Amino acid sequence: MSNFAFCVLGSGSSGNCSLLKTSDSKWSMIDAGFSMRQTKDRMRTHSLCMDDVGDLLLTHLDRDHFNPVWCRTLFNRGITVHLHERHVDRGIRAGLDHSILKPFTTSIEFESMQVETVHMAHDALGTIGFIFTHAECGTRFGFATDLGRVPQTLLRAFTSLDALAFESNYDPTMQRMSGRPAFLQERITSGSGHLSNEESLRAVKHISENSNLQHIVLLHLSRQCNSPTIIRDLYQDNLAHLYKHITITDQDRCSRLLQLEKQSTSLF
Ligand SMILES: [Zn+2]
Repeated sequence: MSNFAFCVLGSGSSGNCSLLKTSDSKWSMIDAGFSMRQTKDRMRTHSLCMDDVGDLLLTHLDRDHFNPVWCRTLFNRGITVHLHERHVDRGIRAGLDHSILKPFTTSIEFESMQVETVHMAHDALGTIGFIFTHAECGTRFGFATDLGRVPQTLLRAFTSLDALAFESNYDPTMQRMSGRPAFLQERITSGSGHLSNEESLRAVKHISENSNLQHIVLLHLSRQCNSPTIIRDLYQDNLAHLYKHITITDQDRCSRLLQLEKQSTSLF
């Protein structure tokens, strides 16, 4: 196995957690929105356990991305929690101990990789996108979820990627027909909530034109207002050449383990 690999333990409004292998022996967790038991059970799918985790990176602190039951375990295990400086107060209110927090503004330093961050609109405090560049192989991986809209700063930063994990939250027709209260639909679709499949596809198309994407992992599908079939059809009809690269994540199941590698043929 290469020492840059990725899997999604589960993604959706009931919980989000992904794992990124960052060195021979360590993995970083991205978000911790499930219970301890669910997380450990799903980690076993890939023969992983909490001893393998050295860091936690948080996109934001909504309950589906950070479950406060983790606070004690993170502290006891001395797992470093990387969160945006705007999210620190909320993190402490949620119960995170100051001593394990490592706030960032625009980048995070790891031994094995460089991480650039992008701040995006989502509810009051916004959410964070990450671009991971592996120090040895130079492989670049972009990760963004819960973005109300796709900012130019993201499109400028998400270039020369080898792999991408990106939100594809809802189908607009299913959203309209959902019977959800108007205020909730407004919150989701207003530009500070979530991305529709079409908005996501447009961004993926743009990013793919400046990248050499081997994996496109689609995150945070709405259980009520989306379906993998709709997304597959959308890619078949609009981005057929990328269809074979897509992985559609599930709320209830762990994804396969994806090896992130730099391709020898570059667009540049
Ligand atoms: Zn979310």
